[in-house]
Amino acid sequence: MPDHGCVFCAIARGQAEASIVFEDEWVLAFLDLQPVAPGHLLVIPKAHAEGLEDLREDIGVRVWTVAHRLGRALRLSGLRCEGVNLFLADGEAAFQEVFHVHLHVFPRFKGDPFRIEADSRVRERHLLDETAAAVRSGITALDAAGGVGSPGVLE
Ligand SMILES: [Zn+2]
Repeated sequence: MPDHGCVFCAIARGQAEASIVFEDEWVLAFLDLQPVAPGHLLVIPKAHAEGLEDLREDIGVRVWTVAHRLGRALRLSGLRCEGVNLFLADGEAAFQEVFHVHLHVFPRFKGDPFRIEADSRVRERHLLDETAAAVRSGITALDAAGGVGSPGVLE
């Protein structure tokens, strides 16, 4: 599959340097070059997918499963780890910087440098219900288009 010079594809092919912690047929996990804390990992599908829209569902499941295990492994690694975040940015507005799907897995501890600033407050139920209806209409639209991603089993 053409990858247009994608750095994560180069890592997946072994053509770019990375500190790899896990690899199987579908997924690769390696250290983030700019960690927010030691142990900051990226889990990627080996096959190029720019974002959630073109990520196969079964591969997404595998990415999650590996991230889940790595989050548990971080707590046993001896690295400072009082908590774990799993974080995925899909799209520029969501701060995606490398356009090859990646799930961040990183240790958290009191006083670490990771910040998300959000101005959120409790919304009234009728507004939440309206929003839920909009999301349900999105699900209906996806179903009409053939479902979410390409469900299937790993071969
Ligand atoms: Zn790629």
